[in-house]
Amino acid sequence: MNFELTEEQRLLREMVRDFAEHEIAPIIKDFDSHHLYPRPILTKLAGLGILGMSIPPEFGGTQTDSLSLVLALEELSRVSPAVAVIVSVHCSLFCYSIAEFGTPQQKAKYLPGAARGEILGAFSLTEPGAGSDATNLKTKAEKQGDFYVLNGRKAWVTSGSEAEAMIIFCHTDIEPGKKKLSAFIVEKTYPGFKVARLEEKMGLECSLTAELVLENCRVPAENLLGQEGRGAAIAFHGLDSSRIGVGAQAVGLSQRALDEAVRYSKQREAFGQKIADFEAIQVMIADMATQVEAARLLTYKASVLRDRGLPFTKEASMSKLFASEAANKIAYLALQIHGGYGYSKEFAVERLYRDARVLPLYEGTSEIQRLVIARNLLRELE
Ligand SMILES: Cc1cc2nc3c(=O)[nH]c(=O)nc-3n(C[C@H](O)[C@H](O)[C@H](O)COP(=O)(O)OP(=O)(O)OC[C@H]3O[C@@H](n4cnc5c(N)ncnc54)[C@H](O)[C@@H]3O)c2cc1C
Repeated sequence: MNFELTEEQRLLREMVRDFAEHEIAPIIKDFDSHHLYPRPILTKLAGLGILGMSIPPEFGGTQTDSLSLVLALEELSRVSPAVAVIVSVHCSLFCYSIAEFGTPQQKAKYLPGAARGEILGAFSLTEPGAGSDATNLKTKAEKQGDFYVLNGRKAWVTSGSEAEAMIIFCHTDIEPGKKKLSAFIVEKTYPGFKVARLEEKMGLECSLTAELVLENCRVPAENLLGQEGRGAAIAFHGLDSSRIGVGAQAVGLSQRALDEAVRYSKQREAFGQKIADFEAIQVMIADMATQVEAARLLTYKASVLRDRGLPFTKEASMSKLFASEAANKIAYLALQIHGGYGYSKEFAVERLYRDARVLPLYEGTSEIQRLVIARNLLRELE
């Protein structure tokens, strides 16, 4: 498979790298340490067309192929995995689901504002009692005239306290005794929508993650996304794509950890020589570099399959599984190479180590990715 980038993809990667290094790196520590949502950064990213990458041009977007989005997320994650996850959820889950399953009216109402960064999007599937087992949701939506009335609690919503609109998954009784998932576009101003609290997390500090309460939340019936009872397909379709995005976040984070480790090993001296000259350090660097490259190739492969219209569910899960587990090993080794200083907040590897930990958890844990890979493989080999 050929991963040679087109001129456009190379230029995009350079533009995002330049933006991340000059516009995000100097200020992101303040956002993280004060748990401030990076809205000014997102507004500038919208100006560069990044928030519109899953939106067709007729709705004001800059729709690109999937590999281009991977390149952008990778570059953002090298500097801030927290900014990368916000952008990934907005593009791959919110905008993509509306662009793919929305009515012409829904697309016209939400996508132009989403491309401009005026409508930031979130995606709420998880509940306090249901994460991996997403079909076991308790939140209900009941049709009452021209509205659906939503009741329940949603958990771990990236940007849940900040997003102007989000896709919320609930059960609807499609016929008596038969419950099925349905998806709704919910605006934060709708009556009955409340942010219950923010999670206090180990990492990704400026990416705010909320628990939401829906108390008789009235959602206009025209905000049903796709068909009633077809929400599971919308959720899984979006997650297939966004798992490639998590792979890209992991690759970006890993590349940064490797770069930091190499730089430090060439500066730090012990026993009268640079620590880079110790074979033990070189083994760690070699292992890290090999894993970054393998993770990158798996992630690019999944996105190229998607761009070619070929099945990519298994490869998306492989990319997410391998890249997110590798990121944790790489961040661990990068911190190890920094010795005691790696444990200090003064060095980037401390944050990378914490930020990496969530990658094998969200958008399907590593255990769930293995199930998806095995099920697909067993089906292919039938
Ligand atoms: C920072 C952060 C941001 C998030 N953002 C979002 C968001 O924007 N939207 C959203 O909807 N969700 C979001 N999530 C939720 C995330 O997707 C879930 O946490 C994840 O899917 C796991 O669900 P759970 O936490 O309920 O774990 P559980 O499902 O309770 O799993 C607990 C353990 O059991 C294992 N397990 C469960 N089922 C199986 C099985 N069948 N076989 C083997 N092992 C199994 C799991 O792998 C895990 O090790 C976010 C989570 C975090 C931490």
